[in-house]
Amino acid sequence: AAKRQGRNAYALFEPAMYASVIGEAQRRLEIEHALAHEQFVVHYQPVVDLRTRQLIGVEALVRWRHPARGLLGPQEFIDNTEVSGLIIPLGRWVLQQACQQLSRWQQSRGEHTFTMNVNLSARQFQYPGLVSDVRQAIEQAGIDAHCLTLELTESILLDDVDAAIETLQTLRQLGVRLAIDDFGTGYSSLNYLKRLQVDILKIDRTFISYVATDADDKALVEAVVNMARALRLRTVAEGIETDDQREMLRLLGCDHGQGFLFGRPAGPTPSPRCSTPRPRHIRPAPPEPPAVL
Ligand code: C2E
Ligand code: MG
Ligand code: MG
Ligand code: MG
Repeated sequence: AAKRQGRNAYALFEPAMYASVIGEAQRRLEIEHALAHEQFVVHYQPVVDLRTRQLIGVEALVRWRHPARGLLGPQEFIDNTEVSGLIIPLGRWVLQQACQQLSRWQQSRGEHTFTMNVNLSARQFQYPGLVSDVRQAIEQAGIDAHCLTLELTESILLDDVDAAIETLQTLRQLGVRLAIDDFGTGYSSLNYLKRLQVDILKIDRTFISYVATDADDKALVEAVVNMARALRLRTVAEGIETDDQREMLRLLGCDHGQGFLFGRPAGPTPSPRCSTPRPRHIRPAPPEPPAVL
C-alpha cells in the first residue's frame, strides 16, 4: 500500500499534469483576450410550437470565433470559463447581446411576445451580481422581462437548496421566466420541482432521440409531460431531428420543440426563420452498421 501511495505522490509531479495546468492557464488567458477582442458570437436556434409549427422564440448559444481553430462550440471552452470565473463577464455579455437582439427582432417582426432563452451555468447562478446583471440587460435593451427566459440546470440545487430557491424568487420578481434545462438528466426530486417555481421544463435530448422508437422513452416523456401539465409548466422537447419524433411529441402533448429538424443555431439574420418541415415520405437510409476491424 505504501508503494501505491508513493506512486500517487510521485504522480503529482508528472510532466503531463504540469503541462495540463499550464494549458489551463494559457486557455484562460486566451479566453480573456477573446473577450476583450470580441471573438465571441451568439447564435440563435428556433423554438417552435409543436401544434401550430409557429416560431415562438429562440435560444441563445454562445460560440467562439477562434482565430486559429475556427468556430468553437461551448463544450470547448465553457468548463474553463466556469473554473476561472470568466463565465461571469462572458455570461453578462451573452445576456446583453441576446436582449438587444430580441429587441431588434421584436421591432422588425412587430411581435412583442417573441421570446429569448439564455443559459446560465451554476457558477453564474451563485454570483451575487446576477440579478442586477439581468435587470440591467433588460433595461438597456428596453424589452419586456416576460419575454426573457433563463435556463438553469438541476446542478444549481447541488450546493444550497434554500439559497437557490431564494435566488430563483428574486429573478422571478424581475418578471423573467425560468426553465429547467436538460430535465431528466440531473437528480432533482419531485419535491424540489414543486418548490422551485419554474415555468418551463426542457426535456433532455437523450429522451427525445428514441421517443418514437423506444416504448420506455416514450413512457418517460409522456409521464414528464403529464406531470408538467399538472404543475402548470410548459414543456419543450430538445433535439428534435426527425418528423417521427416531432409527431410523437405533439401526440404526447409536448408544447414546444427545438432541434435540427426546425433549424440549427445560426448567427442573427434580419428575421429569424425556421424551416417548416413537411411530412417526409421517403425514410432516411438506416445508419451504416459499425465497420468491422
Ligand atoms: P443546451 O442549453 O442544452 O443547448 C442545446 C444544445 O443542443 C446546443 O448545443 C444545440 O446546438 C444542441 N442541439 C440543438 N438541437 C439539436 C439537435 O437536433 N440535435 C443535436 N445533436 N443537438 C442539438 P451547443 O450550442 O453546443 O451548447 C451546448 C451547451 O453549452 C448548452 O446546452 C448549454 O448548456 C451551454 N451553453 C451554450 N451557450 C451558453 C451560454 O451562453 N452560457 C452558458 N452558461 N452556457 C451555454
Ligand atoms: Mg439551454
Ligand atoms: Mg438543454
Ligand atoms: Mg444540453
